[in-house]
Amino acid sequence: MQYNYIVLGAGIVGAATSLELIRRRPGAQILLLEKERSAACHQSGHNSGVVHAGVYYEPESLKARFCRQGVEATHAFCSEHQLPYKTTGKLIVATNEAELVRMQALFVRCGKNGLEPRMLDAGELRETEPEIEGLGAILVRESGITDYPAICATMIDEFRQRGGETRFDSEVNAIDEQPGKILLHTADHVFAADHLVACGGLMADRLARMQGLVISFQTVPFRGEYFRLRPELNGLVRHLVYPVPDPALPFLGVHLTLLIDGSITVGPNAVQAWKREGYGNWNFSLRDSARMMAFPGWWKLTSKNLAQGLKETWNSAWKRGYLKQVRKYCPRLELNDLLPHPAGIRAQAVGRDGTMIHDFLLERTKRSLHVCNAPSPAATSAIPIARHLCDLLQEIS
Ligand SMILES: Cc1cc2nc3c(=O)[nH]c(=O)nc-3n(C[C@H](O)[C@H](O)[C@H](O)COP(=O)(O)OP(=O)(O)OC[C@H]3O[C@@H](n4cnc5c(N)ncnc54)[C@H](O)[C@@H]3O)c2cc1C
Repeated sequence: MQYNYIVLGAGIVGAATSLELIRRRPGAQILLLEKERSAACHQSGHNSGVVHAGVYYEPESLKARFCRQGVEATHAFCSEHQLPYKTTGKLIVATNEAELVRMQALFVRCGKNGLEPRMLDAGELRETEPEIEGLGAILVRESGITDYPAICATMIDEFRQRGGETRFDSEVNAIDEQPGKILLHTADHVFAADHLVACGGLMADRLARMQGLVISFQTVPFRGEYFRLRPELNGLVRHLVYPVPDPALPFLGVHLTLLIDGSITVGPNAVQAWKREGYGNWNFSLRDSARMMAFPGWWKLTSKNLAQGLKETWNSAWKRGYLKQVRKYCPRLELNDLLPHPAGIRAQAVGRDGTMIHDFLLERTKRSLHVCNAPSPAATSAIPIARHLCDLLQEIS
């Protein structure tokens, strides 16, 4: 049998794409293939759970556009399926003069991205969040929180109810595009389809190469480590609280995040991971590390950001250093307030010149679409990304 479409990867991008496809083409033969035993085992199940409003992104970039659409689409999906969703709002706090200047620029960018932020002075910040200190802050009301694994599971349930097929525990190890079909090989099966949509997250570059695509980037994994505040501190803040980011490294800067169960996490940081899907502190893969080090872009990226990278690694090993970062804006926190919480691993596409690719990146062939870079906020943006992929599929079908 030849499927109309195979979607590879049951993270939130693959789940949303499968559902969008079957909603648009009822009756089509669609298969969702995943190597793990369940959905959302990697980035989509190891993230902060934030629905980003779209503050930081380059106006007009795909990232900015999808993020704004994603807030509405995620909210609508959660309402439709009675899934948890809370609009908490977010404070971006400046703790020194330099951050205050960057905060002004961020305020302007918020406007360009269609948001209506409010600028708070130190006094207003204290009134809004008594435990948070800073010289000023931006309040972005649209930000929220949700449960991405629950969204993923619900999308896959609906996909199945509409006649979609799923296969878990099925790792694709070869992809062969032929004139009339595309073949996906697993250990015990060959699946044929008219079209493939690969949403492989941390394995995106490998899947593209597996199919013979010539790509100029590599996926570099970064660990994002968290702590959870002890339960007595639930309710410490009512908003998500972020420091003002460095525009060159926007994903740096540990923040206070409200989780949907009422608890609060601190994090994540961003340290080099030595295994793409290894979540333990000491996980190491010779294959992953050797390939990473054989890529010139990794050396360029590492040397360009050496000081920052060493600082992140130091603070990862030294809990007091980690705490210091959050105490800049929440001075009442102490070491014993920080309890363990599972880490996540980000897939970051890096070019051969060492540049981090911040926007979404797609590669296409006649019969396939590869999502090569879907960094944060791709959980927020999964539904618009899925719609975009389905529009492109219509063009190539
Ligand atoms: C620490 C951290 C915090 C984040 N916080 C946020 C946040 O608050 N808000 C937000 O919007 N975004 C956040 N993100 C980003 C967001 O989680 C990701 O952008 C998003 O989950 C990407 O989804 P995905 O489906 O592309 O990838 P994944 O969820 O990684 O899914 C890829 C899937 O492909 C499967 N796969 C790979 N190779 C194969 C193969 N050969 N055969 C079969 N299956 C395969 C994998 O097993 C996996 O299930 C965060 C990410 C991290 C890591």
